[in-house]
Parts: sequence; structure tokens; C-alpha cells
Amino acid sequence: MSHRRSLRFSQATCPICGGKEVARDDLKGDLLCTNCGHIVTRTETKAVGKFEIAQHLKRNGKMNFAALQKATGASEDRLFGVLDDMMEIGYLNEIQGQWSLTKKGQRWYRQRLGQEWGY
Ligand SMILES: [Zn+2]
Repeated sequence: MSHRRSLRFSQATCPICGGKEVARDDLKGDLLCTNCGHIVTRTETKAVGKFEIAQHLKRNGKMNFAALQKATGASEDRLFGVLDDMMEIGYLNEIQGQWSLTKKGQRWYRQRLGQEWGY
């Protein structure tokens, strides 16, 4: 039986050879160029989820973008994407660059937390 690794192709370009066949290794979170074998980056494409963001906001109250980025380790566009999604469904408020959970967002977070703990 062979050891199976899960590779997903990403949209990154390899800075060494310029190859477009850059795949993400889900086990380690690295981006690997399948052409030259260069490991592109670890943090740039780290996935960030709604739950993770809600968790930080719940803990800290309000946070600005830089603080959220630091807390999640996500890239700017990824974090923006998720924040946008959460705003759209009414989970987040943004006032003068400070993000916080709405009542709806807090309710959703508690529900999700309940699921995690199997309530
Ligand atoms: Zn390469």
C-alpha cells in the first residue's frame, strides 16, 4: 500500500522556475512546485475560516484588520474574503476599521461551539 498524499493545485507561481504547477500539500500546508521541487511558502495561503475569526473576536471584542491578520496568520486577500462573507450574512460589524461580532454572529458562534463540544 502506498502512502497517499493529498495535493491540491493552487494558483501560485513558483518564484524559482516560474512554473504554474504549484500544489498544496494538505498534510503540511506547504506549497510545492511540482516542476522544480521548490517549497514556495507556508503562510501565504493558510486557510482561515469563519469560526476561527469569530473565536478571536469573541475573545478580544473588537479587532482591526492587522490584529486579525496577525491572530489568524492568513493572507490579506483570504482574510478580506472571509470578513466580506461574514459581513454579508450579518455576522460582523465593521466600525472605523474595527471588526466585531454582531448578535447574530455571536449566536452562530455559540451554536458552532456547541457542535464542537457535542452539546
Ligand atoms: Zn519551480
